[in-house]
Amino acid sequence: MEKKTDSQPEAFGTYGDDVFSEKVIARLLPKKVAEKLLATMRDSKPLDPKIADDVAEAMKRWALSKGATHFTHWFQPLTGGTAEKHNSFIESTSPASLKVEFSGKNLIGGEADASSFPSGGLRSTFEARGYTAWDPTSPAFIKRHANGATLCIPTVFCSYTGDALDSKTPLLRSMQAVSRATERLMKLFRQPKEHVSVTLGAEQEYFLIDRSYYMERPDLLQTGRTVYGAAPAKHQQLDDHYYGAIRPRVLKFMQEVDEQLWRLGIPAKTRHNEVAPAQFELAPMFENQNLAVDHNMLMMEVLRQTAESNGFACLLHEKPFEGVNGSGKHCNWSLAYGDRNLLKPGRNPKENAIFLTVLSAVIRAIDLHADMLRAATASAGNDHRLGANEAPPAVISIFLGDELSAVMREIETGKPEKSSGRRTKLKIGVDTLPPLPADTTDRNRTSPFAFTGNKFEFRAPGSSQNCAVNQMVLNTIVAESLDAICDKLEAMEGDFNVNLQNLLQRLIRKHKRVLFSGDGYSGAWKDEAAKRGLPDLPDTIAAIGPLVEAANQKLFLDYGVLTPAEMNARHEIALEDYTRRIGIEGAVALEIARAMVRPVVADEFSKLATAISLAKKDGLKVGQKGLNALSLKLGAGLDDLHVKCERLEKALAHGGPQEVVATMRSLRKTVDALEGLVDDGRWPLPKYREMLFVY
Ligand code: ADP
Ligand code: MG
Repeated sequence: MEKKTDSQPEAFGTYGDDVFSEKVIARLLPKKVAEKLLATMRDSKPLDPKIADDVAEAMKRWALSKGATHFTHWFQPLTGGTAEKHNSFIESTSPASLKVEFSGKNLIGGEADASSFPSGGLRSTFEARGYTAWDPTSPAFIKRHANGATLCIPTVFCSYTGDALDSKTPLLRSMQAVSRATERLMKLFRQPKEHVSVTLGAEQEYFLIDRSYYMERPDLLQTGRTVYGAAPAKHQQLDDHYYGAIRPRVLKFMQEVDEQLWRLGIPAKTRHNEVAPAQFELAPMFENQNLAVDHNMLMMEVLRQTAESNGFACLLHEKPFEGVNGSGKHCNWSLAYGDRNLLKPGRNPKENAIFLTVLSAVIRAIDLHADMLRAATASAGNDHRLGANEAPPAVISIFLGDELSAVMREIETGKPEKSSGRRTKLKIGVDTLPPLPADTTDRNRTSPFAFTGNKFEFRAPGSSQNCAVNQMVLNTIVAESLDAICDKLEAMEGDFNVNLQNLLQRLIRKHKRVLFSGDGYSGAWKDEAAKRGLPDLPDTIAAIGPLVEAANQKLFLDYGVLTPAEMNARHEIALEDYTRRIGIEGAVALEIARAMVRPVVADEFSKLATAISLAKKDGLKVGQKGLNALSLKLGAGLDDLHVKCERLEKALAHGGPQEVVATMRSLRKTVDALEGLVDDGRWPLPKYREMLFVY
């Protein structure tokens, strides 16, 4: 057992217990080995193979002491999820002399049959193997289950030829790219050399429903979303769920989740009710980007499993319910230079100049490469969310807040604004520049990319997505922007501050079209964005197009993040994933309509028909009108249902995914209308008003 320091309060007594942390390393390894390993972990230096055996031995002993019987390389294939293949520590075959082993070789590299993971054509059929390699920048950890535990080693996953078959490899490459570019900029500002880190805090939204409802919904079980369901009379109109008191049953679940996360060293911080009924959010404190990505993947797993053991189902789909808010994964991003957050307005003119330069670099990056960011958020699930009810629009724009927008205008025009009396002369890097205001009051929830005081919050990513994908793009395009700024500054002669001022002015003039402070949900913005020439890529098929554009492929190749072959593969995988998911949704929708809804409607209709003919025969004076009206509605619905099912069947057999989506939507209208006509007790699916409110 790790001895707790006095500073660790009782309630957090198990924090980090299941992590092969720096503390554990210092305790279990000889000093020299520990130092080498820590250098590798902190500065992403390659691991010295000579120490691998020692590290593995210590890791094994530590894992065995935690009750682990198995180890696994833990990686993030292009399915969007995580993968693991367990091996027990048993090495010898004779039970009389049971030997447990875990070698440096086991730790550093592994081989996995990659033939069933998506490769988008990167892996030739004769070379089906994939290779996993330890990423020492993310510490090993223990994953527990009901009656045992497994040592997990975070790894990258590549093909025989070294092509990335995962989301983590390009992320690590992009972190290096943006670090290098940041160092270059800081050198121009004559800052002492510091370690650059990219920071990420990923806010995770999710729905919780009672598991019994979940089990009765074939659509939720198979697609993660409800393909049918009429909106209940009351949903989120009263705004009474957001930040509301958390129900005891949910709080018990949340506490269990937090405790498991803390054990894994995941700094779970905020938990609250979200806008839609039955919707919640969990946010950790930000961490080094790579670690934050791993932690988010683990967080999703812990949420799902803990929900199950608490009689809930945790829905991580971007739009499980139509008509109420969907779920996102807000990715808060910044750059740190040593201890300093470069997106935090500074305390003196020089810091402010750096801040404004980095800010301008981000603005330039988003304006030039919004299409690639949009591509990184494309998925069948997120298609329902982006641009839909209360979600950020599919057009990527930047929100800066009033104060900072004013600062930007002042730089652009070179004139102080009348409204901001505090500022006299705004020059970059000279003493007249007052401290910039930390603008924390502005919160524009309709912007997909918002500056929130000391970081950018990218809100377009979907709740189920691996944030490595969008973060990799963000790092790369910002690296390119920082380099472009450095290129210019290095080539300019004369006074650095004057040059910088002129450069920032030009940058803002050129890229201000991507800045937008208004209501991102409004139709007017859609038109305005089109006028400004901002790309609007409404669905997955359109949104993934930029992956195969030559200019984008060149950029990612130049930065050593993705080769054209790797980008083509990602395009192919995304397209295939989209097509297959829509195919599954269509098939589920068809089956539910034909085998669950139609029999109930038909039965009700035929009963009605019998009642009508009986009423006629008996010459009843009342009731006939009502029966007739209802039978007309039900009969028309039944006909509609038939026609639309046939159409969907045809689209599934011969049409593309977009046709399937359109026919499904039309069929849904009919089914949802029938839901309001048929005897409530006989409706074959749990309704929205039950799933969203009864838990
Ligand atoms: P909200 O955006 O809901 O108001 P916060 O501002 O507290 O919430 O932050 C949301 C997320 O942003 C948290 O995960 C937080 O740790 C993260 N965050 C804060 N500062 C940074 C930073 N410098 N870099 C990356 N993420 C950050
Ligand atoms: Mg936020």
